[in-house]
Amino acid sequence: MDAEQKRLAEELFFSGPKKTSFAKLLYFGFFDDRRVIPYPTPPEAEKEQLPAFLSRLESFISAEVDPDAIDRNATIPDRVICGLGDMGLLGMTIPREYGGLSMSQYAYCRSMELLARSCASSALFVNAHQSIGLKALVLYGTEEQKRKWLPDLATGRKIGAFSLTEPNAGSDVANIQTRAVFDPDRRTYRITGRKQWTTNGSIAHVLTVMAKTEVDTPEGKQQKVTAFIVTPDMPGFRVLAPALEKVGMRGTKTANLGFENLEVPAENVLGPLGGGLRLCLTVLDYGRTTFGATCTGAAKFAVEQAIRHARSREQFKRPIASFGLVKQKIANMAALAYAMDATTYMTAGMIDEDAEDFMLEAAILKVFTSDALWTILYDTMQIYGGRSFFTDQPFERMMRDARLNMIGEGSNEVMRAFIGAVGMRDVGVGVQDAMTALRRPIRNARLLYQFLVANSRRLRRPRIRVRSPLLHAEANELGRRVKNFGMAIPRLLVKYQEDIVEKQLLLDRIATSAIALYTTTAVISRLDSQIAAAADVETVGDDLAAGKLYCRQAFATIDSCLGSLFRNLDGQVEAVADRLTRGVSGEFRGHNT
Ligand SMILES: Cc1cc2nc3c(=O)[nH]c(=O)nc-3n(C[C@H](O)[C@H](O)[C@H](O)COP(=O)(O)OP(=O)(O)OC[C@H]3O[C@@H](n4cnc5c(N)ncnc54)[C@H](O)[C@@H]3O)c2cc1C
Repeated sequence: MDAEQKRLAEELFFSGPKKTSFAKLLYFGFFDDRRVIPYPTPPEAEKEQLPAFLSRLESFISAEVDPDAIDRNATIPDRVICGLGDMGLLGMTIPREYGGLSMSQYAYCRSMELLARSCASSALFVNAHQSIGLKALVLYGTEEQKRKWLPDLATGRKIGAFSLTEPNAGSDVANIQTRAVFDPDRRTYRITGRKQWTTNGSIAHVLTVMAKTEVDTPEGKQQKVTAFIVTPDMPGFRVLAPALEKVGMRGTKTANLGFENLEVPAENVLGPLGGGLRLCLTVLDYGRTTFGATCTGAAKFAVEQAIRHARSREQFKRPIASFGLVKQKIANMAALAYAMDATTYMTAGMIDEDAEDFMLEAAILKVFTSDALWTILYDTMQIYGGRSFFTDQPFERMMRDARLNMIGEGSNEVMRAFIGAVGMRDVGVGVQDAMTALRRPIRNARLLYQFLVANSRRLRRPRIRVRSPLLHAEANELGRRVKNFGMAIPRLLVKYQEDIVEKQLLLDRIATSAIALYTTTAVISRLDSQIAAAADVETVGDDLAAGKLYCRQAFATIDSCLGSLFRNLDGQVEAVADRLTRGVSGEFRGHNT
């Protein structure tokens, strides 16, 4: 990371909300149980409205959404888009005063789960439209902009898109080359550049487009990313490729766009001038939360099918469900699916409770659910054997669709490095201050004392207060892992200091541990609430068994990650890759030499 990238990261991730999020506190070895126990409940106001909405949506999906035809024809029919718009799905989270349903993130996630269970393309279309396409308008739009654009977007009369990625700016979004130059006489911006792979790009009527523009800053004039509302009728808007052929999510239109002196009125600047990257990150938090819901929907469907098949398919004169290696898959899948569900709605609940900062939680959710869905689909196909290979079963389509989840809206590698580094940063500031203070311990006694007090917290195992005695063991074990995690972070920081951001294999272990801590928190909290609400605990027996298994597996993962922070093969692993990619040997020759 160079100095400019560090400055940008500080500005983007740490200059905003001040209340440290639940997941960020874990890096200090602190477990703020008031934020996660009891498990969030759906908003009271939606208790009657939501079941009716979901039931209408379910009927519509079963009558109108044909995922195979959508995949085969690489298009989502207009009647599906209109139908989703008519029932309000396309504007569910838009406030009522702008034509939407003002429904919660919980309700939106439940709906997206239902849609993705049947058709991933349709769910991605809605994600691109609502979770990211129009989200900046809802969050950052002026009153005038909201009144002008949102009512049509809420009903689906207009479709939204979010256009950030460029040929040379994929993960490195700060490197976008599209430029917006202000023309003071016409009070317009002239945007020139190319955008790549914009979902809904060729069918959208309203696009949130990112471009760099000159901004006055305390350090002088700088090129900074700004968001603009763009419509395809603006002079200079070109669709270079309306619908690229692709592996999965084939129903969505993934477009390449070109702007040649695209004239955008100054009133179409969305959010603060130069505040586009922060806006993108906030918007993507919503997209990533939606990924949680859509991956969960597909995963639950796959697990149901796998269990059914394992029970009915007989080989060696017995159901294949009776073989240990099939049982292992089914148990792992059920455990993962339960954790996906619990983590999705924990995160949605945080958003509904107006959490100031949930970027780490959203990133964890996205990485965890996308990886878990991939594992579940792999095992489902294995349980189905040869049958899964034929297109009369949905699994090959689902697998093609699911491949995008690990890449889109932040690749999982970049997200893992982010989860590791962003979580550690605040702890790092304290460690750095303490190390500087140690050079003059007498003068800095107060600062050192504060550091020691803060760190003594790490030596205590946090108490995690669950109501059910059935979960005391898991809660204790989780507390122990939170403490171990909180102790490992300063050790790493003292050893590597700022270089830690380049130690991606270590960041990955930290991220994997953080993912396991957050997801087990969700599982334990959800189980605790389910047990409390159940008249007979037997009624939640399946969930309890799956959830407890998930916790045990996740604890083992944490132990393995933390246990290999200081003794591992990372150096050797990177050296092999360096030989091949930095030209020590020059090429990969395989074994035929
Ligand atoms: C079907 C589809 C729909 C899309 N829809 C949209 C959309 O609507 N709007 C939009 O703006 N974009 C969209 N995208 C773009 C998507 O967000 C990018 O593909 C994604 O951000 C990754 O960028 P990239 O593909 O250029 O990969 P690259 O950035 O080139 O990364 C390639 C590989 O290198 C790894 N890598 C890169 N940097 C690092 C790092 N620092 N550390 C470790 N590993 C790293 C990545 O993890 C990945 O494995 C879409 C993409 C697809 C495929």
